[in-house]
Amino acid sequence: MDASGALAMELGRTRNAYGVAMAEHTMPEPVVHITGVRELAHDLVVIPERRVQLVPNIGVIGGQHSVLVVETGMGPRNAEKVLEFARDYARGRKLYLTTTHFHPEHAFGAQVFAGEATYLVNRDQAEDLKVKGPGYAEMFKELGEPVAHQLEGVELARADIVYDQAYDLDLGGRVVRLRATGRAHSKGDQVVEVPDADVLFTGDLVEAGQFAIFPWFPPYDTDVSGTRWLAVMERLAAAGPRVVVPGHGDVGGPRLLADVRDYLRLLRDETWVRRDSAVGEQAIVEEISALMIQRHPDWAGQEWIEKGVGCLCSEHRDVAR
Ligand SMILES: [Zn+2]
Repeated sequence: MDASGALAMELGRTRNAYGVAMAEHTMPEPVVHITGVRELAHDLVVIPERRVQLVPNIGVIGGQHSVLVVETGMGPRNAEKVLEFARDYARGRKLYLTTTHFHPEHAFGAQVFAGEATYLVNRDQAEDLKVKGPGYAEMFKELGEPVAHQLEGVELARADIVYDQAYDLDLGGRVVRLRATGRAHSKGDQVVEVPDADVLFTGDLVEAGQFAIFPWFPPYDTDVSGTRWLAVMERLAAAGPRVVVPGHGDVGGPRLLADVRDYLRLLRDETWVRRDSAVGEQAIVEEISALMIQRHPDWAGQEWIEKGVGCLCSEHRDVAR
């Protein structure tokens, strides 16, 4: 099958899977509002997602001569608002943009920043944007009119600077560390660390008040890895930053990292112990969903538990070795 045929198939399958996972909810308009902007540290603010699905937390980090924007919001109209805010905030300082991973609400507004900001990302994310971006744009348009509306006119931007594993961005008196984590929630996740303020932007490696999002759509999108994600969370939680800005949900402290780590560990262990006893995948899904919902009755996104179990079944020690 040629590449476009494979992509078309991927689209159909992924759309259905995502649709089942997400379309059960009435999708509110995924609109970024520049309200409730919160200063987390000196010259470092977050435009909060206000618990609207498909709106990410967006960061703006300043130094003496430059300002870095983290995430664009979904589509050009949201990104225009973010850019306008960033321009006002920067007051003439040079603008940079980065995104934590290629998913539409995080990166599909970067086109608006072209010529205004220097866009830099890790290599795996740049690859995700190129290879999977068009498919995800089509898939997300199927999630309903409010989402499709925000995606009108989307063109996938190319980064100006692509780095491999690590990039230290000097904003003037403040160095921000961009770090590729390796495959976890997607193939090309990165985190953004602001060491002087002890703030960490995690993208969708962390969602506050929500079950971890596993975009697990075999056989067409299987980049998410529960075991690698857990390893990343163990590392991030050990570092214990003061402030954690999750991809979605309220800004918090190191507890957010530990919560995701503990959830992923339990999800893996409970899945694998049943796999060891040759329990069928559907039974595992039912048992573990009940267990996890009982443990976290207030967490949203229960439909992602099943996807996580599916992913971890494929990574079971007997399969993976
Ligand atoms: Zn994501």
